[in-house]
Amino acid sequence: MEVWLSKKFSGEQKQRQPTEAQQEKIQRASKIEQLLRRAYPNPAIALGFKTPVQLLVAVILSAQCTDVRVNIVTKELFRKYRTAKEFANANRLELEQEIHSTGFYKNKAKNIISCCQTLVDKYSGAVPQTMKELTALAGVGRKTANCVLGGCFNIPSGIVVDTHVKRLANRLDLTDQDDPEKIEVDLMKLIPKKDWIHFGNALIYHGRKVCSARRPLCADCIFSKLCPSAFSFY
Ligand code: SF4
Repeated sequence: MEVWLSKKFSGEQKQRQPTEAQQEKIQRASKIEQLLRRAYPNPAIALGFKTPVQLLVAVILSAQCTDVRVNIVTKELFRKYRTAKEFANANRLELEQEIHSTGFYKNKAKNIISCCQTLVDKYSGAVPQTMKELTALAGVGRKTANCVLGGCFNIPSGIVVDTHVKRLANRLDLTDQDDPEKIEVDLMKLIPKKDWIHFGNALIYHGRKVCSARRPLCADCIFSKLCPSAFSFY
């Protein structure tokens, strides 16, 4: 199983042997992924979208905002702006008003317009399919890029680390990091590349349904027998 990485985000090279403790963690992570597969065979992305441009815009809007709120906003937004070109030509003040309720609306509007201008200028309005090209776009970090590459193109570029994955990865003791990019590096060492897309999406789903921040439902959790944090919140 090629999961032990020595370079940040290399995803391919196997240069060091895992320690025994790491080997145990890999086995536990494998069991976690098996349980996730059984419980959530096809976890859908909670954000509504029909095209890669729409998902890109929706993920930009989802920063510090709930998916429910983003979906309410994008329902109208995607009727008005249907392509990267239409977002690129948007009136910034109008767009700010339209996305106001998602928070950080000034920055988000600026990034959406700038990002879509680059899509038009460099990629004929299409969304590029590499991590390097995506993260060079305004407002796009690894989380957004992973989400778009996995969700639209089935490309396992990394593991989406949002607030749910961050919380679950720590509770399940798959990482002791706080920074999303460091958490992603830890998870990529433990989970085989072929499972990266599913693992992230399923963990987000499980975080929403069962292991919430304030009231985890450990008694109903598929991980209750292997989770080091089980029942420690009561
Ligand atoms: S056992 Fe409890 S803390 Fe652990 S993942 Fe499940 S709900 Fe979360």
